[in-house]
Amino acid sequence: MNIYIPTLIYSEKDCVKKYGRIMSKTGRKALIVTGKNSSRVNGSLDDVISALEANEGQYVIFDKVEENPSTETVMEARKLGLQEKVDYVIGVGGGSPIDAAKAIALMLGNPQCDESILYENTMRRYLPVVAVPTTAGTGTEVTPYSILTIHANRTKKSISHRIYPVLALVDYKYLKTQSESVLINTATDALAHLVESYLNTKANDLNKMYSEKGLQLFGEIKDRLKNPDDEVYMKLSNMAMIAGMAIAHTGTSLPHGLSYMLTYELGIPHGKACGVYLGKYMEMYGKNDSKVVEKVLNMLGMVSVEEFNGYIKGLIGDVEVPEEIVKANATGLLSNEEKIKNYPFAVKVEELTL
Ligand code: NAP
Ligand code: ZN
Repeated sequence: MNIYIPTLIYSEKDCVKKYGRIMSKTGRKALIVTGKNSSRVNGSLDDVISALEANEGQYVIFDKVEENPSTETVMEARKLGLQEKVDYVIGVGGGSPIDAAKAIALMLGNPQCDESILYENTMRRYLPVVAVPTTAGTGTEVTPYSILTIHANRTKKSISHRIYPVLALVDYKYLKTQSESVLINTATDALAHLVESYLNTKANDLNKMYSEKGLQLFGEIKDRLKNPDDEVYMKLSNMAMIAGMAIAHTGTSLPHGLSYMLTYELGIPHGKACGVYLGKYMEMYGKNDSKVVEKVLNMLGMVSVEEFNGYIKGLIGDVEVPEEIVKANATGLLSNEEKIKNYPFAVKVEELTL
């Protein structure tokens, strides 16, 4: 058993301001990587800029990261970073900008290389990354993963390098501007991380502690997601971060493996796409090992898989997936050893229906 989370984490209100000095000492000049709009509205970008300026830190902003960021965007940001001679990267926003920040840090560390190194199995230098999350879902502020869209392959894939942020500044106040759908989708993503990590081939007593704490936190707020107050935001933020720590050790499983086609082909947001298969996954797992599934339900304060399925449906609503996508998804999953290795039982195509 092993545990490894090399990120220095501050999770508290106003932490960007309080620990701005530590952030600004990460390097001489930062490339701030953010989405197109939300970081200006929720105050995170202003907080980062003020903290850098208060500590005489230099910076330049790249604010063009789209949802499900592409390798093209990563390369465009690298160009700016090279021109501006930055020596570290600050990702501000949801999982998309922070994942992009990690890949940009890798490309900046290897200015002579093209994007093929993102998926190459060689140890590479990369610039330090600071993460300021504004959604409570992906946990990317504490994971080594960076998931990019590869348009040429019509899919999304995690880069092959493991890049943990050196510093994560997690302030739940940024969550308050989220629409109901962003909050629900991202919370569903975090729930999927907790469940898929707990029911995972790589789960052990040490790394299961993360899921146990996260599932308990989720259970405490599960019925208040559509009417959140400060306590809900704070618990969501910690739950998603802890879920990130869980998948940093185990990776995810079938619902995530099946989600990428739904996002690419149908434009379903990441967390919602994971939620589509989550109930089915619990059902399949329960047929092989009902005791462990009961434990998960118990931690969430639920009594049956039916209750869990009803809860997820109530949260994300009905999602129409055309039959040909369901079939292609099932066949694609089973032909990819990487995507099924975290599920400890045999899977049949006909089980992966909706
Ligand atoms: P996201 O794609 O980063 O953002 C979704 C939407 O929410 C965007 O429109 C964004 O606006 C908006 N938004 C972000 N913060 C907001 C706030 N505080 N208030 C209002 N709106 C806000 O969503 P995400 O679910 O956090 O990230 C999904 C990505 O992360 C996917 O690509 C997924 O594959 C990846 N992921 C990574 C990991 C990992 O470990 N690295 C794990 C799971 C998922 P703007 O565009 O204007 O900012
Ligand atoms: Zn996820």
